[in-house]
This record gives sequence, C-alpha cells and structure tokens, in this order.
Amino acid sequence: MLAGLPLLGAVWAAGGLIVGFSPRAPEWEAGLYLGGAAIFWLLIVPAHAAIKAEDALRQERIAMFALWLSLLLILVRLVLVLFVAAVADPALSIFRPAYAFMPVLYICGFLLLPARRALWLSWLLGGLLLVVTLGAVFINDWGWDRTGLPETLQWLLLGNPLFLCALHALPAMEDALHHSAREVSDLRERARLSEQISTSERRFNLVVDSLQVGVWDQRFEAGELVEHWWSPRYYELLGYRPEQLPPSEAGAQQLFGESYLLVRSALYAQLRERNGIAAVDTRLLTRERGWRWFNISAKAEFDAQRRFSRITGAIEDIHEQRVAEESLLEAQAELAKLAYRDALTGLPNRRAFEEQLRREWDRARRVGQSLSLLAIDLDWFKAYNDRYGHPAGDEYLRLAAACFSQCLRRPADLAARVGGEEFFVLLPDTDSAGARGVAETIERTLRQLAVPHQDSPFGVVTCSVGISSGRPSEGGAVEALVQAADSALYQSKHEGRARVSVAPQLA
Ligand code: GH3
Ligand code: MG
Ligand code: MG
Repeated sequence: MLAGLPLLGAVWAAGGLIVGFSPRAPEWEAGLYLGGAAIFWLLIVPAHAAIKAEDALRQERIAMFALWLSLLLILVRLVLVLFVAAVADPALSIFRPAYAFMPVLYICGFLLLPARRALWLSWLLGGLLLVVTLGAVFINDWGWDRTGLPETLQWLLLGNPLFLCALHALPAMEDALHHSAREVSDLRERARLSEQISTSERRFNLVVDSLQVGVWDQRFEAGELVEHWWSPRYYELLGYRPEQLPPSEAGAQQLFGESYLLVRSALYAQLRERNGIAAVDTRLLTRERGWRWFNISAKAEFDAQRRFSRITGAIEDIHEQRVAEESLLEAQAELAKLAYRDALTGLPNRRAFEEQLRREWDRARRVGQSLSLLAIDLDWFKAYNDRYGHPAGDEYLRLAAACFSQCLRRPADLAARVGGEEFFVLLPDTDSAGARGVAETIERTLRQLAVPHQDSPFGVVTCSVGISSGRPSEGGAVEALVQAADSALYQSKHEGRARVSVAPQLA
C-alpha cells in the first residue's frame, strides 16, 4: 500500500515536469499534476495510520481515491490533447505519452488493492481510456491517416488488453502468497502450541515426580474404563512393576486382598455422597514390605447419567504414622489399665475397688441382693518388714494377694489392695454366712502357707479379717458398709489377730 502512493506521486510529479516543458500545454496543467503528486505524498500519513490500526476499509478508500484521482489526471491530459491541441494541429501525433502511464497506474492499483479488485479496476480504467479516445476519433472525424492513430489503436486494442490479460496471473499469485503466509503462520502457531504442551508436560512430570504420593487417572465412557494412568511413584510405593499390577479386578484383589470390595464400595459411596470427594485408609499388600497402611484419596467427575466419567486419586503411605498412632493408643489403654491396678501385686487398686464397690452397691439395690465386704490386714507386718527386710515384705504381699485371689470362686468376686498391707474383698450377692465362709478360707489358707514370722506369736504370717454384709435395698450407705468392715477388722485385731470377725448386720 505505502509503496503505491509514493510511486503515484512520482508519476504525477514526472507528468507535471513533462507538461511544464511542453509548449502546447496550458500553464495550470503542470500545477494540477504537481498538486496531485503532493496529494499522493500527503496521503501516505493517513494510509500509514490506517495500516497501523489494521483498518482495511479505510485503506481501501484511500487507495480508491488515489487511483480515481490518477485516472482523472490522465483523462484531463487526454481530453486536452484529443479535443483541443490535436484539433488545432493536424500534424500533432495523437499517440500521447499519457498512454504510457497507464501500466504504471495498473501496477499502482495492484500495490494498493487486493489483486482481484485491482484487476477489474484496471479493466475499467483501460475501458474508459478506450471510450474517450474512440469518442475523440469519432467526434473529430479522423481518418486512418490521422497522425498517430494506428499506433494509438494498436496500443488501445492490442497492447493494453494483452497487458491486462498478463495481469490476470496476479490474483492466483496473490492467493498462493496468502496460502503460504497462512501455512507459515499455522506452522508457527503449531510450533508455539507444541512448545507450550511440552512445557506443561515437563512441569506436570516435575510435579508428579516430586510428590511423595502416587497418583492415578482413570477415564470412563458409559461406565466402562477406557483410559488409565498410574504415576511411577504409585508403583514405587507398592514395590511392583506396572506389568505385575494389571488394571483389572484381579490386580485390585491382589493389592487389597479380602477388603477389596469393602474398600471399593466405601470409596464409591463417598464419591457419590460427598460431591465427588473421598478418602479411605486401608492396608495394601506391597511386594516386598507386606501389608502396609495407605491413605487413598480420590476425586470424581460424573456424566449426565451420574456415572463416573473420570476418577483421579492418590495413594499415600501412612504406615509409620498409623503404627505410631496405634502404639500410642495401646500405650494409652495400658496407662488407663495401670491407673486401676496396683503395681506390686497386680490386683485392682483402691480407685478400682471404690468404683466397683459403687457399681455393685447400685446393682444390689436394684435387684435386692445382699453385698458383703471383707477388710483384711496382715498381722504384725511392720515387725516382719523390720526383721526380714522390705523386699521380703513385698514378696510376701504378692504371695498374699495371689492367695486371696485364689480363694475367690465367683467371677464377680473382687480382691483389691487398698493400702500398704490392707486388702478389701468385694463379694456381690453374698450374705453374711457366705462371706464368713470366704473370710475363713482366706484366713486359713494364708496361715497354712506357713511363711515363718519369728516376731509373731503364731510363728507364721497371718491376717485378720473383718466382715460386713448388707442389703442396700433396705437402706444404708455404701460408706457404712466399709466402716462396718473396718470396725470388724479392728475387733479381730483386738481379740488377738489371725481371726475373722463379723460386723453387726446393717440396718
Ligand atoms: P497389726 O497386726 O496391728 O496390723 O500390725 P502391723 O505391724 O501390721 O501394723 P500396721 O498394719 O499398722 O502395719 C503396717 C505395716 O505394713 C507398715 C509397713 O511396715 C508394712 N507395709 C505397708 N505397706 C508395705 C509395702 O508396700 N511393702 C512392705 N514390704 N511393707 C509394707
Ligand atoms: Mg495395716
Ligand atoms: Mg497389719
């Protein structure tokens, strides 16, 4: 476009000079051409702006204006020659230099406009030239002998049309040029896209490789698995090669074992109920490290029929964490157990005894049963410690505890160590007579162990027992039961030790 305008300017500047030196041309004509040239050059500015703004319509308007103005200038020249100068001077050749500028005009047309538009415009300009010239020949009644007429007709009827015919090659060339330009830009675009894809693929691989979790992607069509992918880390975490873990039911069974159907239905149920999000902890059979805990998280997309269209997910090895959690729970349970156990004898401690006593008391009240309690204290035990030493005392405490437990027959009976060498035995659903039987068995069995005790009048370690019994439904408080057992124990001590005393029946 921009090449056409300076060229037109140059053509008309040249025309202006030629006409300026021509003796027959009016003086204003040179000014007309030079003015035209100036206009073309000035047009370069708006044309440049239109090209920059990619405004095709404005570009075409400027081009058309330039071309029609050029034609007008040529026609002015011809009209002046054919209807004025040549009429006045029969010797003047009517084959004018103006004709020679026509091809330049056509070429400028191709520079300024799309090829097809330029072609028909060229034919139009050529036709107009022909009409004006033939019109002059006809009106002036020129014969074949008119100077320059044969050359003019040769040019107009042969040379010019042949030249225009030759120009018909240009639209096809322009098409080819556009086509190649499009191909080049397509190629560029494709190169850019593939560069973009390989960049995002590289980025994707980098992310997947750096993840500690193994990820996967499954695509379904009409509920059938059509595409699947598992990341290298997925296989690495499980220790299998891809071919050892086929994407089939059998592969899944191998990995999940018996829990496969359970885990799968739990996952699928969560995906459906929690907007396509699920997470499950399960054990998977790894190839070299046996069963290990994994967290499986998944995300699903659905088709119009609410079938899965895609499931993506990740597995994470949480084995160490899980095992640590489990041993922590075990330790907590163990601690809780310890809080209710006496460390020396392994018997329930005072706290466990008191809770159990309260439970049994309430139960006895509900069902109307009687409840008995034995308070046991080892005799002369301080002296035992003093003579045989504390470790021997401890050993004896353990022995006594085992002895008491063995003397209890019913599962609900409970022996507890409630103080240094003091024990309580709880006997649910047992009346005073039954309790006395158990108490005497305990006192006798311990005595018959015949553990020597030089500082005891009996020569062996013995114990004293106090018994209290009651029926909670008939009133009274649990504290009174304990108090009564203690009083009975005191009575046994008072009466000489190594014996059993029974507290009066509670009201
Ligand atoms: P009594 O016949 O009047 O009961 O005389 P005793 O010496 O047994 O008197 P008391 O019941 O007051 O004695 C408690 C003694 O039991 C004090 C201590 O020497 C001993 N003892 C308490 N707890 C422990 C223990 O955990 N280990 C050992 N080895 N001895 C203990
Ligand atoms: Mg005591
Ligand atoms: Mg004692």
